[in-house]
Amino acid sequence: MTRPAKPAKNPGAAIATGPEPEAQHCQTCRQELAVCDGVHYGSPQTGYRLLCSRCFNEEVAEAGGLDFQHVQFDPLEMRDAAGGRHEFHFRVHLLGDRVALDAFELQGGEPRGYQFQALDAAEVDLFALMGRLIERMRRQLASCHLEEEQGRLHIKDLLARGRIEWDENEDGRVPLIVIDGREITWEDFGRMLMTFEGWQFKLEIRDKSEEV
Ligand SMILES: [Zn+2]
Repeated sequence: MTRPAKPAKNPGAAIATGPEPEAQHCQTCRQELAVCDGVHYGSPQTGYRLLCSRCFNEEVAEAGGLDFQHVQFDPLEMRDAAGGRHEFHFRVHLLGDRVALDAFELQGGEPRGYQFQALDAAEVDLFALMGRLIERMRRQLASCHLEEEQGRLHIKDLLARGRIEWDENEDGRVPLIVIDGREITWEDFGRMLMTFEGWQFKLEIRDKSEEV
């Protein structure tokens, strides 16, 4: 059985994103890059330039002949069902004829915790897309799947929604699972499942931009 290739983080464009160690500047507008806003844009032939999302989107729009107006959304604080605060940052990237709106929390200068993505046609009204994304974020933050009992987390009902991430401590050998915006090691996740020993389960993998 073959496993589908891991979906590209930024399908449709020759770009790569990564943590920026120090304050860096966009090589087009010279503005200081916001955290996690740098995009390496180009090709192996022409070389790569570090751009802010606005300049990146403008170049992609021009190359594709698209009438696209970049919007930089301010960070937004939201609360989960348990009253916990979450500060979300937003990033808009034009991916050919599609646009991706990402919402993410930051820890140590990197996206961690809750992460959401909305995808739509490049011509979409970004404020309408943002409205739909926020509705989805609210729904997800309102439903906690984990609860703590005697200092240990467990799945409180018969359902858990989460995200599969890279576990640096395991060098990618086994996943790190993010449920309710909390990082759960594969071993802890296995321990949680043992509450249901002998029961069945259904595992369904969905794209980051879909609501689960
Ligand atoms: Zn720029």
